[in-house]
Amino acid sequence: MNAHASRASLRPAGALPTAAELDHALRDAAPRDVIATALKIVGREQLAVVSSFGTESAALLKVMADVDPAIPVVFLDTGWLFEETLAYRDTLIEKLGLRDVRSIKPLDETLSREDPERDLWFSDPDACCRIRKVEPLARALKPFSAWINGRKRFQGGARAAIPVVEEDGERLKFNPFANIARDDIVAIFKSANLPPHPLVASGYLSVGCMPCTSRTSADEDARAGRWRGRPKTECGIHSVKAP
Ligand code: SF4
Repeated sequence: MNAHASRASLRPAGALPTAAELDHALRDAAPRDVIATALKIVGREQLAVVSSFGTESAALLKVMADVDPAIPVVFLDTGWLFEETLAYRDTLIEKLGLRDVRSIKPLDETLSREDPERDLWFSDPDACCRIRKVEPLARALKPFSAWINGRKRFQGGARAAIPVVEEDGERLKFNPFANIARDDIVAIFKSANLPPHPLVASGYLSVGCMPCTSRTSADEDARAGRWRGRPKTECGIHSVKAP
């Protein structure tokens, strides 16, 4: 499809199209075209990919790197990540030639004040995600007017109906993988010979922070191991609007 031509007819010259207009234009676009369109609209200085360097992250990073490996990548280093995830980040930087990966940490003063014993994940996981993920991401996204993430509709739950483009406060949020199937992810890994996350071989199908991630059995959804035994299913970065 010619997304650029569609956008050009939607708004006056120089004006950014709205999320709804972009979503309509990119509804059936390939992930690569969604990323290329985002880049064309806002420019590299204003665009960031947010990646957890989790079990499926390499697929989105590969598609992004094929468009432009210098697009900034924001990685939230919560202080509770597996060593394997940190090593995988470095492996993918090397493999894909990523040129601007920014590892963002929570503020020391916030951790000292709100989680001095490092047990907030147990007593109040929403508060823990807020200080270790949501607030750091909001800070990291301040320079950007649009961001890209790797959520898929096939993941179900709150993700089952995500659009390709949506508003996130003052920013545009692009979900280039919204439409794709799990097999498409597998195909990208295979065709690009992408290394798996080191913990996949140990039975982790979705990997987040150490205390809140467990293995999944064959009959479970991939995200069943996240916050197991709790009603929580999302960390909050996709529901809280960045200022
Ligand atoms: Fe804290 Fe767990 Fe959220 Fe990580 S996933 S920030 S450890 S509650």
